[in-house]
Amino acid sequence: MKATNSTTVSAVAASSAAPSSSRDARIATHSHIKGLGLGDDGLALPSAQGFVGQRAAREACGLVLDLIRMRKFAGKALLLAGGPGTGKTALALGVSHELGHKVPFCPMVGSEVYSSEVKKTEVLMENFRRAIGLRVRETKEVYEGEVTELTPTETENPLSGYGKTIAHVVIALKTVKGTKQLKLDPSVYESIMKERISIGDVIYIEANTGAVKRVGRSDAYATEFDLEAEEYVPLPKGEVHKRKEVVQDVTLHDLDMANAKPQGGQDIMSVVGQLVKGRRTEVTDKLRGEINRVVNKYIEQGIAELVPGVLFIDEVHMLDMECFTYLNRALESTISPHVILATNRGQCTIRGTEYEGTGSGTGIIAPHGIPLDLLDRCMIVRTLPYEREEIKEVIRLRTKVEGLAITDDAVEKLSDEGMASSLRYALQLLSPAAILSRTAGRSEITIEDIDETDSLFMDARRSARLLGKSEQVQEK
Ligand code: ATP
Repeated sequence: MKATNSTTVSAVAASSAAPSSSRDARIATHSHIKGLGLGDDGLALPSAQGFVGQRAAREACGLVLDLIRMRKFAGKALLLAGGPGTGKTALALGVSHELGHKVPFCPMVGSEVYSSEVKKTEVLMENFRRAIGLRVRETKEVYEGEVTELTPTETENPLSGYGKTIAHVVIALKTVKGTKQLKLDPSVYESIMKERISIGDVIYIEANTGAVKRVGRSDAYATEFDLEAEEYVPLPKGEVHKRKEVVQDVTLHDLDMANAKPQGGQDIMSVVGQLVKGRRTEVTDKLRGEINRVVNKYIEQGIAELVPGVLFIDEVHMLDMECFTYLNRALESTISPHVILATNRGQCTIRGTEYEGTGSGTGIIAPHGIPLDLLDRCMIVRTLPYEREEIKEVIRLRTKVEGLAITDDAVEKLSDEGMASSLRYALQLLSPAAILSRTAGRSEITIEDIDETDSLFMDARRSARLLGKSEQVQEK
């Protein structure tokens, strides 16, 4: 400790497990969906929380939510059955939003289980664990306040003799009670840079690990500089240096990964870090078992609470008998997420039941390609094709979310496309049309941009029809 108002915080870089970016991208197309848009009476509002139409399905999902809350959904699954682009993924995401803030949502596609490297059930198990959250409450010694000064001090690089490195960083944190200046190790500075902390942010720094977390922007700073309100937070009360209850949300998969590849000083390692000694490189059943034990201990002690999220398996007919058997068993587990399945198939063969060597079409045929014992556990909800007006409204919603200007004619044209192929196809045309309109120097998407995009890309039906025609010509 240097001066009375300056403290050295031991620095250990904090890094929380990174979520899968491809999964994030899958959810991005549904960013306008904020819930199921139901009224207090459980009835679907015509358009609310980003949801338009599909009222019966939304109300049915609302009822499933009630069952979940009453703990009467254990061992069951929700099956959404309907054509492509009828909002099955959107409904599943809506359910997860309704379950609460920071409830995990893990979307996957049935065919993902087929990989030459990983066992099918292993892929399923990993996704189950991605969908189970753990909310950990810890009391930690922290420094919290609004950043009013952030000054790195450079020094000559002692190793090479030239170039500069950061020697330390001085940071001043302000609360209602006053301001405190801290002198931090360079590694904390790295965390500060990684979190893009700047003057006016309210942050806290964990004293033991040096982990830095942003709480939000200070509203005092915003008022002083006349900034538009964003996610502003009040100036923290109390002293800068204090004990604080810190809540961390992780998934069981995050814990598996953090322990399989320990990187030293991971945040959550302070919770389960003592668990795994030595270095591991892959997630094994033994490791998962050890993690489950520690998690259970923390739950018993009241430090942590399980947050079952939503596991959404699209194209569930792509799973095979082995996966279905696994699913049946996993649904029975006490730590199962809420499982939502989706399919656009009617009667079809259950994969993995075909007689050897005869290929598909000769095995057991079942509704949606799902074995009856699993179907018995499912509550089935149908999604219906959209009316033109509904498609139009979703298009309007998406353009607003994506910040795109579009003419009324172009919306009409896109709605036609949506009716002719699917809502998904119409929405997919938006981004390329926006690029074409920008390239042409236009300030809004016009009917020409939609026509041009439509001539460059094809919806599935048109593409199949054209290929079919060319095959017939070749056969002649
Ligand atoms: P697939 O079976 O092909 O995966 P899907 O039934 O899951 O399709 P979604 O992906 O949910 O369909 O829908 C396509 C797009 O339309 C998404 O961007 C989704 O958010 C949006 N969407 C679908 N239905 C609605 C709705 N009722 N209200 C608002 N947006 C919707």
